[in-house]
Amino acid sequence: MNKQVICIVCPKGCKVTVSKQDGVYTTTGNACIRGNVYGIQEATEPKRVLTTTVKINGASIPRCPVVSSAPILKDDLFKVISLLEAVELTAPVHINQVICANVLGSGIDMIAAKTMEKKHDL
Ligand code: SF4
Repeated sequence: MNKQVICIVCPKGCKVTVSKQDGVYTTTGNACIRGNVYGIQEATEPKRVLTTTVKINGASIPRCPVVSSAPILKDDLFKVISLLEAVELTAPVHINQVICANVLGSGIDMIAAKTMEKKHDL
């Protein structure tokens, strides 16, 4: 099995080839060990930082941007997005406030990416 990935750990963007032989993963094309770790992770259990929005009441706009505290398994991204559809916040919300803790038992939190003040009617 061979899989090609572009390492995104630094701007150099090495083209990394991940190979598996007898259950052992190896990489070529990476200029440093970080590309080895990234390439094997990407080939076996790809993860992504999730950025999305959730509903918020009482703020000047109806959606609050949120971000995962760490990369989430790519296979779980839509499950987390579904879970967040049921979340309804009330302003004020502060940046880095935990919006949804330990999503899917992953140990990863969804946190507010922006402070959303309470809207004051004039
Ligand atoms: S392998 Fe190393 S040098 Fe190449 S892009 Fe990844 S982090 Fe940068």
